Amino acid sequence: MTRTQELLDTARRVQLPNYRPAPMVLVKGEGCRVTDEDGKRYLDLSAGIAVTSVGHAHPKLAAAIAAQAARLLHVSNLFYNDRAIELSAELVKRTAFDRVYFCNSGAEANETLLKLARRHHHEQGHSERRKLVATIDSFHGRTMGSLSLTGQPKYHAGMEPLVGDIEHVPYNDLDAMRAAVDDRTAAVLVEPLQAEGGLNVPADGYLQGLRDLCDERGALLMFDEVQTGYGRTGPFLGAENWGVVADACSLAKGIAGGFPLGAVLVRESLAGGLPPGSHASTFGGNALACAAGLAVLQIFDEEGVLDNVTERATQLSSRCADFVQRFSAVTEARGKGLLQGVVFAQGVDPAATLALLRERGVLATLAGGTVLRLSPALNVSEAELDEGLNVVAQVLQEVSP
Ligand SMILES: *Cc1c(COP(=O)(O)O)cnc(C)c1O
Repeated sequence: MTRTQELLDTARRVQLPNYRPAPMVLVKGEGCRVTDEDGKRYLDLSAGIAVTSVGHAHPKLAAAIAAQAARLLHVSNLFYNDRAIELSAELVKRTAFDRVYFCNSGAEANETLLKLARRHHHEQGHSERRKLVATIDSFHGRTMGSLSLTGQPKYHAGMEPLVGDIEHVPYNDLDAMRAAVDDRTAAVLVEPLQAEGGLNVPADGYLQGLRDLCDERGALLMFDEVQTGYGRTGPFLGAENWGVVADACSLAKGIAGGFPLGAVLVRESLAGGLPPGSHASTFGGNALACAAGLAVLQIFDEEGVLDNVTERATQLSSRCADFVQRFSAVTEARGKGLLQGVVFAQGVDPAATLALLRERGVLATLAGGTVLRLSPALNVSEAELDEGLNVVAQVLQEVSP
């Protein structure tokens, strides 16, 4: 028995089978490459679902984590730590937001947005404003609050009762939003670009329409930037592509390059929304996670990473458009920045196509079940992206009916 078989046997025996991982065991990464236990190398166009923003084992990130681990890991939120203060100041400097709260994941960040929305209005003497409006096909996480905000019934099955007073309306439909947002609405929460739901890009004027509607009706506008934020779609926050600023947004995924960290950014008007004692996280904002977050920003600045996203995004979108022209396996190219993909035609098996890509040495993911999502590290080189896309082209040709 190989070591891989041994590990897979053990995993299948001792791990909860709530996932369906590919039958391989990754043991090492470097930049955009990962290596499995058998020594097979892969070009990683998934980046751990848009998480490893500066690639695997970036020397500056690894050194920052090691240095901070040897200095101070955790002190609790009863005391300040220097790294959390520094990272908060950086996030405020780089965005239109004024205040920062740290947690450990995207679900927790969205859970915080939900609680903040209700508590803010409660503090203003408007406890009747407790309804949240979110969109169908959204993804906001798996805790009960963030799950209840997620507009995908398949994730709700068997988990009811969900958190109450949450309504879902179709994405990109301002009329539906207009019908749902009223004087009992605490907040509207949307992903600027629906990522997990299938890389659904906002229609022209949609996000601005939400901004105007929320202002008119006294509801808060909140963006889930967990996947679209931190440079993934080009600018620092995804919503900047459409020139709209929310009242608050959530961040996680790429924020610390693979180290667990989530954040909520709010405008000054919401500064009193979570008064002392109303919300907390034991690990949130620990010095180690924040040191990783700071190192990612330092790498962004020193290595021109966000400029690279813009250049590589052009390369990626022209190749995706070309795939749609050439291969009947795909029907449409979608997405933004380094979060783009192609939609599989009916009759093409998405999971089998991903497996074939893996066999040829390229890692990618699915979004919305039928979209091949390409979300490489933000510092992927032109040659690496080209190499990966050549393999994608070969495989799409092979699976084209
Ligand atoms: C991944 C994701 C989440 C959930 O993040 P976790 O860290 O898995 O809790 C929430 N919202 C969006 C948009 C995401 O892509």
